[in-house]
Amino acid sequence: MANSGMVTPAELKEQVKKILQQIIRFRHELHQIPEIQYQEYKTTAKIRERITRQEIEIEPPLIKTDTVAILKGKDQGKNVTLRADIDALPVEESSGVPWLSRHPGFSHACGHDGHTAILAGTIEVLSTFRERFNGSVRFVFQPAEEQGGGGKRMVEKGLLAREPLPSAVFALHGWPETPLGSVGARSVVETYLDPEAWIDNPPRTMAAEDFSFYLHKVPGAFLRLGLGKEHTPLHNPAFDFNDKALETGITLLTALALETLKAPS
Ligand SMILES: [Zn+2]
Repeated sequence: MANSGMVTPAELKEQVKKILQQIIRFRHELHQIPEIQYQEYKTTAKIRERITRQEIEIEPPLIKTDTVAILKGKDQGKNVTLRADIDALPVEESSGVPWLSRHPGFSHACGHDGHTAILAGTIEVLSTFRERFNGSVRFVFQPAEEQGGGGKRMVEKGLLAREPLPSAVFALHGWPETPLGSVGARSVVETYLDPEAWIDNPPRTMAAEDFSFYLHKVPGAFLRLGLGKEHTPLHNPAFDFNDKALETGITLLTALALETLKAPS
């Protein structure tokens, strides 16, 4: 197998498949410990325990419960910043899944456990390719997306002013009422995913508000990841992130990072 040059779609797929079962279990562990804004201590401990298995530098936190980490490629180059939100909601869960919330009155009814697991998986996949790209990828596990203005506060505290400065920022949100595995990122879809996965012009939503503080400073995109047309709506007590969307989510973020880093400035 080639171990230099551009990461091929087949290589990317193979790496994602290797870690997928572990990432599903990690998602379930996060699901059991939902925490709301600025209380995300157990969640943060779990994230750090997982991501420090890789050769990654943890940067100083900007607010109480954030985790920011940077993965460096072979040589100097651009930076891409990927963000996941980590907070849960004060909603009593009624999904009935075996990995049900162990915190009465709280649940991951917006699926941020899925976003967090996808970002952790993206770190693991990109780590295996670190000799194959130049530049760096910064990973932001951000608290208080739902309430408390976590995104705004982290940007105000200088998240996007850190060296190396980001040339692009990306985040995704799992979305019911859209086909499973569909995404809104055309160039990446054409290269790395099934062409059927492209979803044209996803409507703007409230969930984009918090990430808009990033997008006011740096170009990028907030992407919807389809959870299935019949999936339980967000913020519903019966909501549980669709594990079948994790593979596409990890592939999407990894491909976005690799494509952005290799594009000429
Ligand atoms: Zn959300």
